[in-house]
Amino acid sequence: MTTIDERSTDTIAVENPRTGQIIAHLPALSRQQVMDAFAHARRAQRQWARTPVEQRVKIVMRLHDLVLAKQAEIVDIIQSETGKNRASAFDEILDVVVTARHYGKKAPKLLSRSRAKGALPVLTKTRVDHAPIGVVGIIAPWNYPLTLTLSDAIPALLAGNAVIVKPDPKTPLSAIESEKIAREAGLPEGLYTILTGHADVVGQTIVHNSDYLMFTGSTKTGRILGTQAGERLIGYSAELGGKNPMIIARDADIDRAVRGTIDGCFSNSGQLCVSVERIFVHRAVAQRYTEKLVQAVEALTIGGGGWEENIGSLISAEHADRVMDFVDDAVRKGARMLTGGRRPDLGPAFVAPIVLVDVPEDAHMYREEVFGPVVYIETVDDEDQALAKANDSEYGLNASIFASPRRGWELAQQVEAGTVNINEGFAAAFGSVDAPMGGWKSSGLGRRHSDYGLLKYTQARTIAQQRLVPVSGPKGMDKHTYAQVLSTVLRWGKRVL
Ligand code: NAD
Repeated sequence: MTTIDERSTDTIAVENPRTGQIIAHLPALSRQQVMDAFAHARRAQRQWARTPVEQRVKIVMRLHDLVLAKQAEIVDIIQSETGKNRASAFDEILDVVVTARHYGKKAPKLLSRSRAKGALPVLTKTRVDHAPIGVVGIIAPWNYPLTLTLSDAIPALLAGNAVIVKPDPKTPLSAIESEKIAREAGLPEGLYTILTGHADVVGQTIVHNSDYLMFTGSTKTGRILGTQAGERLIGYSAELGGKNPMIIARDADIDRAVRGTIDGCFSNSGQLCVSVERIFVHRAVAQRYTEKLVQAVEALTIGGGGWEENIGSLISAEHADRVMDFVDDAVRKGARMLTGGRRPDLGPAFVAPIVLVDVPEDAHMYREEVFGPVVYIETVDDEDQALAKANDSEYGLNASIFASPRRGWELAQQVEAGTVNINEGFAAAFGSVDAPMGGWKSSGLGRRHSDYGLLKYTQARTIAQQRLVPVSGPKGMDKHTYAQVLSTVLRWGKRVL
């Protein structure tokens, strides 16, 4: 599906954001082409569902090895279409590898038939199967073009599904590469297909034909797709926007907090769903923290493209303009920029990381997600105030707390977010793939990672065998007597079962 065929009437152009140069033209597929891909996927899936899980695991483990072996060329591709710094591109490799290994090890147990308590003790034997759903549609954004396609596909494939992906039109190349690597790993054709093109044609045809929809992107689109999935009564999981807070408590280790702020706010130039955009710092440490943070931000290297580069390009000049519009609006309304805001002459979409204070509540960026290298600091009188402000948001994706471990755990339990990191920006929770990751409130629906991240791609089938006596009671026993027997069993069962 990655070459232009005779039915493609349109193309998409892929740009290298560092240079503004067009680096590829790819087909914008038609509705019919997407429908054909679904027909193909459905045929392949029927066979795949019969393939033993152990065999699926072998392929995913080969994929794990190949991604590690080919990491340099994959990172080059990711950088070429996103402009991100090399370390952030490598994070995508790590994520795929860790996800493949985690689910590769867990899938056989998760997918094996499990026992459940029966309707009637001893007399009912109940077991639960997890069957694949069919064809899973994945609609992905541009910020992590490998991770948010392949890592989400891995558990779906292990569960016996086929997967059809629409990458963002700005970043299809990493996803296309992942399709090639999956084939090289031995994944049969038709099971993992990347379809390039526009949201209204390719995206919508996927929404209308998949048996489960996994979406990562903006809250606005997430709501639309959620409505459509609801109309079709298909399962839907969505990882959406965030306005993620960080709390710096009075007893925080300030040097560690500064390092954590750099990682938490400026990884991938802040174009990260779990990125920190609001910092609430205790008054007692605010000045020391802020001075050290500004110093550390000013020491970050921008441009170059190699491992030494801390800050890469944003995804596009338009996005950089949008980020600066947020900042200009805040500054016009009274915010002070402590550092950053230059547009270094390295390419059309570079922005030097920005730290602001005094951002007023009526500034758009006070509550809205900027999705760029921008953070504001607000001084608070105590941690209760910090918590109240952290939770005062329509979003609830990720949060970060710098504090002594004891204080950190106390505060973490009061944060309204899907992941809370103590003494780390986001990587501790996001990297814990055995634990659920996803959003509260307008930040999402469903979870990736954890057992749920695989089981959501399955249909549960409960099989219950009734032995000796029917559930409605033994032959010849009148209803009243049976009701009394059941009541006795229930009373006894409350204590014993
Ligand atoms: P977006 O919602 O505009 O687009 C995401 C994807 O959806 C793209 O592939 C796009 O082509 C497609 N799409 C858009 N409208 C569609 C429609 N009507 N039908 C079918 N497909 C459609 O988001 P974006 O601007 O590309 O990504 C940035 C946003 O994504 C940010 O708000 C960010 O917070 C969020 N995000 C969240 C996570 C997370 O894990 N929570 C991760 C990355 C990005």
